[in-house]
Amino acid sequence: MRKQQTLSKSSFFSGIGLHSGNPVSLAIHPAPSNTGIVFVKHIGDHIHSLPASIDFLGNTDHCTTLESGDFQIQTVEHILAALVGMEVDNVYVELEGNEIPAADGSAATFVEIIQQAGIVEQTPPRTYLKVVEPITVGDDQRSISVIPSPLPKITYFIDFPNHPLIQQQEFVHACTPVEFQKHIASARTFAFRKEVEFLWSRGLGLGGSLLNTVVFSDSDLVNEGGLRFTDECVRHKVLDLIGDLALLSIPVVGHFEARCSGHWLHAELVKAIRNQPEKWILFNAGTQTKTDITSATQMNSPVTFLPDLQPAFQTL
Ligand SMILES: [Zn+2]
Repeated sequence: MRKQQTLSKSSFFSGIGLHSGNPVSLAIHPAPSNTGIVFVKHIGDHIHSLPASIDFLGNTDHCTTLESGDFQIQTVEHILAALVGMEVDNVYVELEGNEIPAADGSAATFVEIIQQAGIVEQTPPRTYLKVVEPITVGDDQRSISVIPSPLPKITYFIDFPNHPLIQQQEFVHACTPVEFQKHIASARTFAFRKEVEFLWSRGLGLGGSLLNTVVFSDSDLVNEGGLRFTDECVRHKVLDLIGDLALLSIPVVGHFEARCSGHWLHAELVKAIRNQPEKWILFNAGTQTKTDITSATQMNSPVTFLPDLQPAFQTL
């Protein structure tokens, strides 16, 4: 069991949004214990906030979107994966645009800026959700479950029988920061060339390029640099799942088993976990409690702002 963690100082990054194609900047700031991960944006004189919680889930079409009123953020899953994968619990992620920068299509850049800032311990212990009975969503074709396990673990299976470079892939990930950095963080998002024009016609993927997406033709790979791992696709699916599970706002001790799943089904599992409290317990530092999940995650509490958060982008 560990204590809660945040960053030791603010960290900054700029790039383009994968789906909008617009320039976007972000800053990750340290936050007090029990804050969780909260996206913030200056609009005029006001600071708008959007906690990384399933309560604010928007569209899950090709990426995960959070929204509350006029404040919408696309493609939150890769930065959330980096934060959760590195066990950073409490931060403000300040945005200038409406989308997280695409970086190289993976979580590697976000891991880098987290490490540049440094991770520091806070006083309160981290509360975990321990699964004691299986929870499943999906059907025979696509499903995801979480079953009891002494350690957090993910097994992901994908099947693309019509593409010779993908076909069936399975990856088993032991959820620790070391394993995340080594095997998952640098796996890039992927797409098929024949789908790309269709995405563009729907206003998605406008910032996509071979710099931030693995693109497959009918039988080959378009990127000249090749794959980072022969099973890069399934590793990226693990990355996406870690990011989407951040919307539960509390780390899970259990074994996730995903089969041909995606953002929508990941979110359905998060809702199912929330809605079936008889199938898990909360615990920290050796204690087991049956307290209300909201008291452990602060997921419904309003953000109390923000004495030292200045508009970061004036200095960029
Ligand atoms: Zn992704």
